Amino acid sequence: MLGLIRAQGGAGHMPNVAKAQPSAGCKRAETAALLLEWWDRERRELPWRTRPGASPDVYRVWLSEIMLQQTTVRAVIPYYERFLARWPTVVALAAAPLDEVLAAWAGLGYYSRARNLHKCARLITQVHGGRFPATSGELVKLPGIGPYTAAAIAAIAFGEAVTPVDGNIERVLARLFAVTAPLPGSKPTLRGLASSLTPPARAGDFAQALMDLGASVCTPKRPSCLVCPLQATCAAHAEGLAAQLPLKPAKSDRPLRVGLAFVALREDGTVLLRRRPEAGLLGGMLEVPSTEWSEALPPLDQALRAAPVHGQWWAVPGTVTHTFTHFCLELMIYRAVVPTETALTFWADPQRCRWVPRRALQSAALPSVMRKVVAHGLREQ
Ligand code: SF4
Repeated sequence: MLGLIRAQGGAGHMPNVAKAQPSAGCKRAETAALLLEWWDRERRELPWRTRPGASPDVYRVWLSEIMLQQTTVRAVIPYYERFLARWPTVVALAAAPLDEVLAAWAGLGYYSRARNLHKCARLITQVHGGRFPATSGELVKLPGIGPYTAAAIAAIAFGEAVTPVDGNIERVLARLFAVTAPLPGSKPTLRGLASSLTPPARAGDFAQALMDLGASVCTPKRPSCLVCPLQATCAAHAEGLAAQLPLKPAKSDRPLRVGLAFVALREDGTVLLRRRPEAGLLGGMLEVPSTEWSEALPPLDQALRAAPVHGQWWAVPGTVTHTFTHFCLELMIYRAVVPTETALTFWADPQRCRWVPRRALQSAALPSVMRKVVAHGLREQ
């Protein structure tokens, strides 16, 4: 069994973490070997993975790792396949207009990833001669690549002996070593444990094996310890702590923000959309103009003054709701049909606006929340 790592200290203090018991070290090579043996039999077949023995394509590894940030494998697969079919190399992706990349990304969420993907592709093409740097230390300097993604790419594509540590891998490690100090304070300990387990050879396979174990066996609520290849070396299993770990601070509820969105439909069949500022939430994506999203709605007459065109605005029954990472949004939708020659108001910020034909909305770079707004605002009453 791997050593227990106990939290010390009372309530209100960051717990100290004791060192792993000395006997743990001799089991680490065995743990890595058991995990790799299991992975050779049970690995998930995913479109970005190469066959055993084949050399990975770093472009595919990078593309999949960026898409997988904060997103499930199931959601990523169709996007990954479409991107790869349309832009089979980093050079092809770099040559694509940003708008097309954003439109192809629409629906996958966390849109700064798409802008950084494109920026990174251009940097690789223009500065690095179309070749990705081969170390995690260099990769982490590129746009959109944080420490986890850099380690994942370096291990999988280049065999660097590093292990990426995300929430899933933290969970597996916290259980394997029975780390009872709560997250996020225990993160440095868990990263250290990941390093201590990383085998000098097959680091990429080891990283993917940990990912697969976390996804299919050592799952958040009910870990399947009975079929786990690491059961014999797992401290949490031996202690009966598996389902309780890792410990986390209590979650606070997401706050609610509200606003009014204005679906302006021109008589020529176009709909008014606006590009959001590059920085911040949904940066660079298109939106339906709206009021500020705030804790409470201003009085209706004041809110309607933020409309992007003058017209007969009427409330579409119902609301649109959407959950972001840090808050929930509820939008009331107002709609107006206006003449084709209608001028935009000052509040519309005309430089950022454009009239988009209804038939082109499907392929526009609209994030999921705005697709809901458009669908709600245009539906027949
Ligand atoms: Fe996770 Fe259970 Fe395996 Fe330990 S034995 S690594 S808790 S599934």
